[in-house]
Amino acid sequence: KEFKDAGLHPVVLDTITRLLEYDAPTPVQSYVIPAVIEGKDVIACAQTGSGKTAAYLIPILSKLMGKWKKLAAPRPPSSAHMDIKNSGVRAEPLVLVIAPSRELALQIFDEARKLCYRTMLRPCCIYGGAPTGPQREDLFKGCDLLVATPGRLVDLMNQPRVIALDRLKYTVIDEADELVQDDWEESLGRIMASGESNANEDHSFLMFSATFPKNARILANEYMSTDYVRLR
Ligand code: AMP
Repeated sequence: KEFKDAGLHPVVLDTITRLLEYDAPTPVQSYVIPAVIEGKDVIACAQTGSGKTAAYLIPILSKLMGKWKKLAAPRPPSSAHMDIKNSGVRAEPLVLVIAPSRELALQIFDEARKLCYRTMLRPCCIYGGAPTGPQREDLFKGCDLLVATPGRLVDLMNQPRVIALDRLKYTVIDEADELVQDDWEESLGRIMASGESNANEDHSFLMFSATFPKNARILANEYMSTDYVRLR
């Protein structure tokens, strides 16, 4: 199997083959990419180093590029930066990637930045242990793909007019088995309820986990559509 046969958007295909110089899909990519392109919910067993980040980012960005004109969010012009705080413009991402740790969030963001490089899609990353101010300002510059740790995401969701999740097309939980903080279930519940993403016909839910302990099974039961694909 080759990337060029996967039905990817030409811009995304060109980025992975010529810019990132990925020769061929890794095993997890060869299973996950077609499933996401078909619009399926996916649970996949995948370890760090397997290429799991690109496995979901590549087909998601590819699909969004195809729909871009319809989905593009209104963006404040950059010269209006000083007025943005009061303009009522919120971050309305199309893609939400939940990562259990700041370290993983930044790793995913790094890959997202490379893959978004020649797309119209702007990635942002929010995580705890850093001031919220700069993260909020970055969100206000436009956010199509949001990589977030659950705690910081809930914090910013509690602030008025910062993040709205009702345009989400994709929700990804990466390293679901690492969601170990005591309040993860409550945080996830709030995040998922906020977008009513489950009710959205057009929404896909993807979950990646090295193992499937209780917390990962709870998430799968709670949020997966009934005909999800499970890949190991
Ligand atoms: P991950 O498992 O997502 O942490 O990815 C591990 C590393 O593999 C990352 O640095 C990716 O940039 C790289 N990678 C992902 N997909 C491929 C591929 N198809 N060919 C070569 N390297 C890749």
